[in-house]
Amino acid sequence: TNDQLSQWDRDSFLHPSTHLAQHARGEVQGRIIIGGEGCYITDRDGSRLLDAFAGLYCVNVGYGRTEIADAIAEQARELAYYHAYMGHGTEASVTLSKMVMDRAPDHMSKVYFGQGGSDANETNVKLVWYYNNIRGLPRKKKIISRWRAYHGSGLMSGSLTGLNLFHRKFDLPLDMVRHTTSPYYYRRDTREMSEPLFSAQCAADLEQLIDTEGADTIAAFIAEPMLGTGGIVPPPEGYWEAITPILEKHDILLIADEVITGFGRLGHMFASPAYGLTPDIMTIAKGLTSAYAPLSGSIVSEKVWKVLEQGTDENGPIGHGWTYSAHPIGAAAGVANLKLIDSLGLVENAATVGPYLTAQMQAALGDHAHVGDIRGEGMLTAVELIADRDSRTYFDPDRKITPQIVAAMGRRGVIARAMPQGDIIGFAPPLCLTREEADTVITATTEAVAEVLG
Ligand code: PLP
Repeated sequence: TNDQLSQWDRDSFLHPSTHLAQHARGEVQGRIIIGGEGCYITDRDGSRLLDAFAGLYCVNVGYGRTEIADAIAEQARELAYYHAYMGHGTEASVTLSKMVMDRAPDHMSKVYFGQGGSDANETNVKLVWYYNNIRGLPRKKKIISRWRAYHGSGLMSGSLTGLNLFHRKFDLPLDMVRHTTSPYYYRRDTREMSEPLFSAQCAADLEQLIDTEGADTIAAFIAEPMLGTGGIVPPPEGYWEAITPILEKHDILLIADEVITGFGRLGHMFASPAYGLTPDIMTIAKGLTSAYAPLSGSIVSEKVWKVLEQGTDENGPIGHGWTYSAHPIGAAAGVANLKLIDSLGLVENAATVGPYLTAQMQAALGDHAHVGDIRGEGMLTAVELIADRDSRTYFDPDRKITPQIVAAMGRRGVIARAMPQGDIIGFAPPLCLTREEADTVITATTEAVAEVLG
């Protein structure tokens, strides 16, 4: 029964990213989801909800795709597992590596498979350290990330994350990590500053940090091409053009974390080429399998590969592997998923319906006294709320304005996300969202904002 499940849940289940004490007291109203189709999910109470966050920005092809379910079942029946150590593989993992590299930018060389985005970023840092050790640069190890970045919850990936919630009480960030200015134009200190000037300021802050630390100690700069969990923030005009020459000048690798942006979310297969970036390493996860099974990847460029190759010639096998690297079930899901993204034209759909969602949201809510900014790219949209538009004062976080609005949307059958820092409503629907479904999302948002803020 529902009551029994709730009891078991409270007694037994230690949930991720949850207020543990409130959950144990029964004050957190989580849903138990039992089914999904297209953009909709169904919970145990029989409610059907339009999931405008695709789980956690990951169910890119939508729910209930039998092609992927069948591929997983077939793989499980034929061969549920074999490892990828010492050059082993499965048909699925080898095929997926080829399909990923066919889609990756031309200068990229090979993909290492893991389980999720966090462990892929752990792998990336180890590869960067290995790279500089082989090059005889053992001091060049620090990684620069940005405030408001999200790169995962592991010891290193959680350190790279630039959100206080993920550091607090965990003794993070680790020593080897530094954070620089977030490219968050809306929340700039100086109102009069133009976007290009703000970008130049971000670049100057980065260069200053590199100078202070010493370029010979900095190995890599990690960034989401467009900030995700930190607030869904497209880069301001001129940002990447100002940042990348600094990295090149100081021999600092660029790790592009495409966990959210990869496989179509911004209306491009990958965001890096769209922003003119040529990353040395790319992180992929989420859209790689549309979350039908856990799988992630670290894609390395030819430049990095050449050094890794030399490293193992000198030192033997690379001492880094997971039992579940390139898990065949994840790989089978990935192969079926990438075929579906192509055959359904989902990258193109994200490039048209996504901007429609953002534009219609602007038309519906842009003039509201408590809506400060509506922004987005592809199928990734944010509505930022503000107490006072003119003086740019934010709501007291204790008022929990966004959680209230998101709850009011839930009562109207639409799921959005209260982003973890600031009053920001996030939208990252499955890439198969239709215009009619986008309209449903906008109506629910408008009504919920009116209910909570008038
Ligand atoms: N990197 C980015 C940009 C993410 O958005 C996330 C998760 O949301 C991660 C890394 C971590 O991925 P995972 O939760 O699969 O470990």
